[in-house]
Amino acid sequence: MPLYGFRCDQGCGDTERAYSMASVPDRIDCPDCGAVARRRFDSIAVSHRGSVAMRLHDATAATAQSPRVTSSIPATNSGRGRRPVSTDPRHRRLPRP
Ligand SMILES: [Zn+2]
Repeated sequence: MPLYGFRCDQGCGDTERAYSMASVPDRIDCPDCGAVARRRFDSIAVSHRGSVAMRLHDATAATAQSPRVTSSIPATNSGRGRRPVSTDPRHRRLPRP
């Protein structure tokens, strides 16, 4: 049976349920708070959970909606101990930004 996505009106998030195509309801009770969770009709509404395409889709959506916050510069870019990009000595005389 295909999975259908439902989103809680109170903001608990999304949940998925399996229904046959003939019996899928428009709304269910939220499993977390019991409020109404309405069926989603976007691309996740009928999901193929676990497939590579759906994991990529979910990861892309998660990145767009809540990007990871970086609190420090990655170690490879910190400047200390960084090797020069060019070994040509003439490049060291070029003006710095
Ligand atoms: Zn809820």
